[in-house]
Amino acid sequence: MTATSVTVIGLGPMGHAMATTYLDRGYDLTVWNRTPAKAAALVARGARLAPTVEDALRASDLAVLSLTDYTAVYAILEQAPAALAGRTVANLTSDTPARAREAAAWLARHGAVQLTGGVQVPPPGIGTPGAMTYYSGPAEAIETHRAALETLTGIDHLGEDPGLAALYYQIGIDMFWIGLTGYLHGQALAQANGISAQDFLPHALKTVDFRYFLEFYAPRIDAGNHAGDVETLSMAVASLEHVVRTAEESGVDASLPAATLDLFRRGVAAGRDQDSLTSLVEVVQKG
Ligand code: NDP
Repeated sequence: MTATSVTVIGLGPMGHAMATTYLDRGYDLTVWNRTPAKAAALVARGARLAPTVEDALRASDLAVLSLTDYTAVYAILEQAPAALAGRTVANLTSDTPARAREAAAWLARHGAVQLTGGVQVPPPGIGTPGAMTYYSGPAEAIETHRAALETLTGIDHLGEDPGLAALYYQIGIDMFWIGLTGYLHGQALAQANGISAQDFLPHALKTVDFRYFLEFYAPRIDAGNHAGDVETLSMAVASLEHVVRTAEESGVDASLPAATLDLFRRGVAAGRDQDSLTSLVEVVQKG
């Protein structure tokens, strides 16, 4: 085991990018994956494919996990719990904050430290400047493994609570999936009307530049100020009805904007029609 040895468990697109980056930076890399064939290109470049999970864990003080969810984490680590003692597991696997906390406690019972991580870039961003990962867990473990972790991305250490990184990640990914699906729906509407995604690109870029709105709304949301002095939910309902009708008239499935329209209408039914769209924060919190 060397100071620059690291184990990567999970070779989906993300784990593969991480393993490749470690090889690029000269790390002594051990990998393990449920489907070993996915390690072939890495092994050809000098990575060692561990025959067992136990071997993979014992090869390095730091194991980086990049798996679909924590069910996969347990499915793997339960194969060799005794090999966890004394190790740090950088668990860069997405799941809920509660599951991240449970896993940290489970690992602690086996003598290991979990650093929960939420990677904020897609696989091609790994190892590039500006890439960041939310981390939470013991600061000491971050410091011990700072160089290896920073080989992948910058570190945004949020605190000790192992659930925090998962929480920040889920908040961001909530915005990301819903926002990106909005983009895709818009492009379905564009394409149905003979406008290509490339043609619409400059307009799409302007439309998704939410900075002005976010900076304007954030202090108001925190203050509970949902005054309808700039826009009102009743205007938003009328506007979204136009979107739904345009989609229907274009032969495009309107269920996505219709679901949003349903939420807006629930806001109106709750008496927020003359309030800002931001009042939806309170509408969804009340369920
Ligand atoms: P994948 O879902 O493609 O990861 C699959 C990995 O999990 C493979 O190694 C797969 O093994 C393993 N796996 C899944 N289920 C099991 C199981 N039951 N037992 C053992 N191994 C299992 O995800 P990505 O590589 O794309 O991402 C990894 C993590 O990073 C995810 O949590 C994702 O949310 C997060 N992330 C991904 C980003 C992306 O753009 N890809 C961006 C930011 C975060 P096998 O090869 O055998 O199937």
